[in-house]
Amino acid sequence: MARRRLSKQQQHRIRKIQEERARRAGKREQTINDQREAGELGSEQSGLIIAHYGQQLDVEALDGDHRGELFRCFVRANIDSLVTGDRVVWCRGDDNTGVIVARQDRHTLLQRPDNFGQLKPVAANIDHIVLVIAPLPEPHDNLIDRYLVAAENTDIPAVILLNKSDLLNDDNRHRLDPMLDRYRNLGYQVVTASAHHPDRHDDTITSLVRGRTSVFVGQSGVGKSSLIQTLVPEHELKVGAVSDSTGKGIHTTTTARLFHLDRGGDLIDSPGIREFGLWHMTPAEIEYGFREIREITGLCRFRDCRHQREPGCALEKAATEGRISPQRLQSFRRILQDMAEQQARGLKL
Ligand code: GDP
Ligand code: ZN
Repeated sequence: MARRRLSKQQQHRIRKIQEERARRAGKREQTINDQREAGELGSEQSGLIIAHYGQQLDVEALDGDHRGELFRCFVRANIDSLVTGDRVVWCRGDDNTGVIVARQDRHTLLQRPDNFGQLKPVAANIDHIVLVIAPLPEPHDNLIDRYLVAAENTDIPAVILLNKSDLLNDDNRHRLDPMLDRYRNLGYQVVTASAHHPDRHDDTITSLVRGRTSVFVGQSGVGKSSLIQTLVPEHELKVGAVSDSTGKGIHTTTTARLFHLDRGGDLIDSPGIREFGLWHMTPAEIEYGFREIREITGLCRFRDCRHQREPGCALEKAATEGRISPQRLQSFRRILQDMAEQQARGLKL
C-alpha cells in the first residue's frame, strides 16, 4: 500500500493521540487489575466480537449461562487491536459488562488502508467475500477485477453473486454469460440470485452463506442491502438511498457489525466493508491479484517488464496463445495504469 509521508504536524497530532490513549489504557488496566484482585471479575470464558465502538466492544458470550447475550467490554492494554469477528477470552464484570483478556488466533483478516496508507484491520475470521454484481448497473470486468485483486491479496476466497436475476434477458445474457464463464474458468464460484425473488433462489443463497462468515461487497446499486435484508430481516438497512444528509450513513451502521443469520451462518457488514478494495494498490499487489497472471509474470524477458506491450512480455504471448483471456490482460493493464496515475496525482498533492 502507498505510504505517504506524514507532515510534522500530522506526526505531532498522532503522537498526542497515542499518548492520550496510553494514559487512558493505563488507568483502565489499573481498574481491571483492582477488580480482578477484589474478585469482582468472573472466570475466563470464550466470546465473539459483534461490534466495536471506540474503546469498547460488544462481546457475545459463546458459552456458560449467558450464552448468546451481549456484554459491553473493555480490553486489557496488552492485546493488539481487536475487530468484529474476533474470538476472544473474556471475564464478566458487573451487570452487562466485561473485560477481554486475550484474543484467539484468527484464520483470516480483512484489512484496509487508512488515510495514511497504513493497513488497518477491519474484520476477522471471514470465510468468503461475496462480490455482488447485477445486470444493472452493468458490470465492468475492470471493476470486478479490482474487487477480486483486493480479495486475492487477503487470501480469503471470493464468490461472485449475480443478483437481480429477474432482469436477465437475451440481450444482457449475451454479454454476461461469457463474462461469468471467464471467472468460472479461473476457478471462482459464480451463483445467481434475486433479492426481489428470494423464493426462486432460496437454496442458492442459503447454502452459500450457511455455516460460514460472509461479507458482501460490490458497487453501489447492485442490491447488497436488499440481499442482506432477506438474510437478516431485523437489520434495518436503507435500500436504494443514502441514509442521512451527510451521506455518510447513520451512526450505528458505520461500525462493522456481525449478524447471525436466521438460517445459519454469520454476516459482517459495514459501509467500509461494502466498498472493500476500492483503494490504491501497488503493482505487486495487482500482479498477485490476478491468479492466472501471477503464475507467469516471472517469464517476461525484462525483469522490470511493465507488461504494457514490451518485447518478450510473457503475458502478451500467453494471451496470443489463448492461455490467458485477452479481457483479463486488458483489465490488468488498465488497473496498473489507473493505479500509477492515482499515485502520480497523490504525490503531486
Ligand atoms: P446496494 O447499493 O448494493 O446496497 O443496493 P440496494 O440493495 O440499495 O439496491 C439498489 C436497487 O436495486 C434498489 O432499487 C433495489 O430495490 C433494487 N434491487 C435489489 N435487488 C434486486 C433484484 O433482485 N431485482 C431487481 N429488479 N431489483 C433489485
Ligand atoms: Zn511482461
